[in-house]
Amino acid sequence: PHDQTWKQLTDHLGEWVTESKKHTTDGHVASYIPELANAPAEILGICIMDASGSIAAAGDSNFRFTLQSISKVFTLILALMDNGEAAVFSKVGMEPTGDDFNSMLKLELVEPGIPFNPLINAGAIAISSLIAGKDSTEQIARILTFFREIADNPSLEINAAVYKSESDTAHRNRSLAYFLKDNGVLDCEVDDVLRTYFSHCSIEVDCTDLARMALVLAHNGVDPIRHQRLIPRRFVQIAKTFMFTCGMYNASGEFAMNVGLPAKSGVSGSILSMVPGQYGIGVVSPPLNRKGNSTAGVHLLGKLSQEFDWSLF
Ligand code: GLU
Repeated sequence: PHDQTWKQLTDHLGEWVTESKKHTTDGHVASYIPELANAPAEILGICIMDASGSIAAAGDSNFRFTLQSISKVFTLILALMDNGEAAVFSKVGMEPTGDDFNSMLKLELVEPGIPFNPLINAGAIAISSLIAGKDSTEQIARILTFFREIADNPSLEINAAVYKSESDTAHRNRSLAYFLKDNGVLDCEVDDVLRTYFSHCSIEVDCTDLARMALVLAHNGVDPIRHQRLIPRRFVQIAKTFMFTCGMYNASGEFAMNVGLPAKSGVSGSILSMVPGQYGIGVVSPPLNRKGNSTAGVHLLGKLSQEFDWSLF
């Protein structure tokens, strides 16, 4: 039996998507990873999933895209499960930055040599190095297994074209990794950690996968559909806190103000968000604003939050 909110959602989601779609023209599809530039600019899709697995979807919800920075939330969780809190936070800090996702400037400010947080690129690269496994091949296999489990989708794969495109052009991420290596944050080889990092960024999903993954976070690590704990509660709490404070790059404060939900975006134009205790949400629309977030996606989440009073505050 579905409540009033769900009925309103399923009745109106299509209209709201049509409205938000107008905002795709305010942004630009990311092109610094050449392969991402091929994404069509007029796409907007959303999937919302409730605890019983019912779906409200609208727009281009079957469009496929790569996780990019959204993957960082789940590699952080896996690194916490593999190493525990103390080991992870000896390599990355807990503070938001007001900087772009690939910031180098503030890299050293929290404590000498460790990245500000696990969601900026430097922090996420450090986290990739902490995934258990004897080499990057084994780490990548474990990440894929974990993501498939959380998404309840055994067919998730790495998009090889996106991987190659990023790997061929990632001069900045390479320099970040060398800087981390120089500071003693990385115990492995730079090429190995980057292979792991580019691989998890290139995992391909659709909005339903995103919503399904978000649903597990919304329910504090228990999959409410299979009634199974997949992640310890504390690690979900850590992940959601980072999503709230740093999940939307240097627009995280603005997003917290206007939407008020934990969220993480990626340069593919994707956003994973959730209504804690209730819904998992996956949104995609490739054109990005100046801060690197999907223009139409942010607009749509703002509309929904307003409509249903979803802000946590
Ligand atoms: N793989 C991308 C990069 O490192 C992820 C960036 C993002 O989504 O913020 O540049």
